[in-house]
This record gives sequence, C-alpha cells and structure tokens, in this order.
Amino acid sequence: MRAVVYDEPFKVSVRHVEKPKILHPNDVIVKVTTSCICGSDLHMYEGRTAAEPGIVFGHENMGIVDEIGPGVALLKKGDRVVMPFNVACGHCLNCEEGRSAFCTEVNPGFAGGAYGYVAMGPYPGGQAEYVRVPFADFNALTLPPGKEHEDDFALLADIFPTGWHGVELSGFRPGESVAVFGAGPVGLMAAYSAVLRGASSVYVVDRIHERLQKAKEIGAIPIDLSKGDPAEQIKKLRGGREVDRGVDAVGYQAVTADGKTEKPNAVLEALIAVVRPTGGLGIPGLYVPKDPGAPDSNSAKGYITFPFGKLFEKGLTVGTGQCNVKKYNRYLRDLIIAGRAKPSFVVSHNLSLDEAAHAYEKFDKRIDGYTKVLLHP
Ligand code: NAD
Ligand code: ZN
Repeated sequence: MRAVVYDEPFKVSVRHVEKPKILHPNDVIVKVTTSCICGSDLHMYEGRTAAEPGIVFGHENMGIVDEIGPGVALLKKGDRVVMPFNVACGHCLNCEEGRSAFCTEVNPGFAGGAYGYVAMGPYPGGQAEYVRVPFADFNALTLPPGKEHEDDFALLADIFPTGWHGVELSGFRPGESVAVFGAGPVGLMAAYSAVLRGASSVYVVDRIHERLQKAKEIGAIPIDLSKGDPAEQIKKLRGGREVDRGVDAVGYQAVTADGKTEKPNAVLEALIAVVRPTGGLGIPGLYVPKDPGAPDSNSAKGYITFPFGKLFEKGLTVGTGQCNVKKYNRYLRDLIIAGRAKPSFVVSHNLSLDEAAHAYEKFDKRIDGYTKVLLHP
C-alpha cells in the first residue's frame, strides 16, 4: 500500500510499504479515508526528534473498518470510525480514570502511545491506505454512515478535543476571559472551544494574517504579534486588566514564519504576564527543542527556562500534557451531528496522499494559507 514515509529532515515521500495485518485479537484494520497533517508532525519533520527514516506518519485518522480481529466485540466491518491519536488499552488505571493519553500498558517506559510518532510505541501512522487499530473497541469512535461531516469528524482525532482540553487544563469557567497563544489548528480549536463554552472574551495571538482572520471569524479578538508585546496589547484592550485564563497552543517553534529564530520561552513568559493572579494556564503546546542550537534548551528533556518566581507570585495553576481524546470525542461528535459545532472552518486544504510532500513543506513554512491539511488516500 502507499504511505507517507519520513526520509530525512524536511523531506517525506509517498512510498510502498507493507499493508498492516491483524496482530492481536482486539485489532481492526481501517481503510483510511482521511488523515490530517498536524503541528506535532512538524517536530519530527524538522528533524528535532529521534524519528528514524522509514517511519509512517499520521496520528489523526478516520476511515472504514475493513478487517476485524476475533476478539473485537462492538465494531463491525463497514463501520465509519475516527481514532483518537492516542493508542490506549482501556483498562489500566489512567485509562479507567479518563486519562487515556497516559496509558501505562501500550508503550512501557513512556507515558502514552500514539500512531506514527517517535517514542510513542510500535504503531505505524495512518497517512496511508490502511492503519492497524489496537484495542479497537476502545480506540475507535463510530460515526454516522455516509460522507457527511467528513472534515469535521476528522478533527475529532486530535485538534478539536485538544483545543477543548487546552481550555479545560486552564481551569476555565463560563464567563471568564481567555488568551490563546497560537492561531494554528490547535489554537483555533482552543479559541473555538472557549467561545462554545461561554467565554466572555477570547484573544488569539499569532503573526499569520490568514490564521488571525479565522480567529476573528469565530468571534475571537485577533492580536498580531508583529505589532508589539502581545500581553501588553491584550491588557491595553482591557483597560489594563489581565485575563482569567491562558492557553499555550504554540509549544516549541524552531523558526517563525518570517524566518527568524523563535525565543523558546516567549509564550510561557507572555502567558505568565497576561493571566491574572490565581488564574490558570493550559499548555497543550509541545516542547521539543533542538539541541544544539536553540538557546535555553536541551532536546532530550525539553528543558525551557521561564520565570517561575513570577508564576509563584501570582499563584497560577498550570495544566499540561497530551490530550485524552477519548474523554471528549463522543460529546464533540454529538455537537457536530447536532449542528452546534463546525470545527472544519479551520481546514484549508483537502489533498490526495500523493500531494503530501508539497503539503508538509507549505504547512511547515506556514505559508500560502496552509492552516490545516487533510490527506485522502
Ligand atoms: P502550528 O505549530 O502551526 O501552530 C502554532 C502557531 O503558533 C503558528 O500559527 C505560529 O505562527 C504561532 N506562533 C509561533 N510563535 C508564536 C508566539 N510567540 N506567540 C503566538 N503565536 C506564535 O500547528 P498546531 O497543529 O496548531 O500545533 C500547535 C502545538 O500543539 C504544537 O506544539 C503541537 O505539537 C501541539 N499539539 C499538542 C497536542 C496535545 O495533545 N497536547 C495535540 C496536537 C498538537
Ligand atoms: Zn495531531
């Protein structure tokens, strides 16, 4: 079958790889209809991780169940499904308590598993014609049959739940104000979630015009980073007051859209400055700095310096980590079906698998309006 394979930093190609087989009675094989490119793929694509050449990318997968292991009880051949990017067992302590991103069984020695991701277990990605789904009854969410809402449902694999989770991690309550850093797919989903959940005002910080425009379309207030200190800009709009909650949907960014090296702790510093005393920070952004080269960083441990003293002085709470997609995706699916959420406003490109190399390049440079790319094998 054809699949998107990582070759070397800044290069992927579509190649023939072996079609996945049922390896365990609880597996299913899904024929992929949509697999998205994620900002998280860029950490590997840019060569900042230990990802080996040959790894198949793709953790945001949906499709049609094609083959069923003998231990699968709920799914049937032909079911339309979307998979959380997390691979989880469903019965360890963390899974039972709704923290499937930290499953202790699927990837011993590392907190959690995922498809097509370095260090996250032996689970090839779904930017391919087929993908193997382990513990399938737990890890596949069924969808209404047909083709309706394909783009919306595809976003249930990761970014819609992750944006929602980012807001949740910040300790948000309806009526509060939120500053979201990053108008990439995750930031836009966080802002959209805050709007859906009744925020009084939502500010979205970025420097990319098209992305800020999308933030404006959903009722958020765009803050252009290139026009000066974002925390000061937000406070000025609020008569000097800080916001209640902040979300970091940026993480580590090697290079900015205008080609400059990003300060690795810029967002954490700004969040600590812009959130009110005893407010909260949600940090879904991933810190994978390159070592050597980036200041204040150590790639092996994701070391980043930030003003902890100020964080302490303000008594801020911090929530972080991979999203437990399973905790949210059923409810978010039902919001989509009910017509009360339409996250696909973030999708900029629907492309064939063969266009992957080009799409990765454009999305990585964050140019030409590439905001969220959906690949269709
Ligand atoms: P992305 O990386 O394109 O989005 C980041 C956005 O931040 C870009 O639009 C960029 O212009 C902007 N940006 C850069 N520096 C900034 C700054 N100083 N202030 C404000 N904005 C700035 O794509 P994405 O898919 O939205 O991913 C965002 C982050 O979320 C990545 O780190 C990704 O790995 C992470 N992520 C985490 C999870 C999770 O489960 N926790 C899931 C998916 C993605
Ligand atoms: Zn993702």
